[in-house]
Amino acid sequence: MLAHINEVFKNKKIEGELNMKEIMLDFQEKNEKKLAEDKKNEEARINKIQCPSCKSNDKEHIVKGDNNGIFGPGYRSWIIEEYYVCQSCGTMFKDLTKA
Ligand SMILES: [Zn+2]
Repeated sequence: MLAHINEVFKNKKIEGELNMKEIMLDFQEKNEKKLAEDKKNEEARINKIQCPSCKSNDKEHIVKGDNNGIFGPGYRSWIIEEYYVCQSCGTMFKDLTKA
């Protein structure tokens, strides 16, 4: 956060008092941009995954999850199993390149 404030100072050459709201908005904007970019990259990566049997890109993404049963504050969910089913030949396969 401090490094970011310094960056805003440098970029905008602001002298004297800085508007805290402006800093927060700038910070938020950059954060959202990065998240949107990450999501786009992940989608592009998934699109490129091919079936190991027939090399088809046409697949269904299956995600099975569970949660701790608490609804409201304290709710937590997680992925138990994640795999793909090829829509051409029916092969089930895992995403081995997932980080
Ligand atoms: Zn296939």
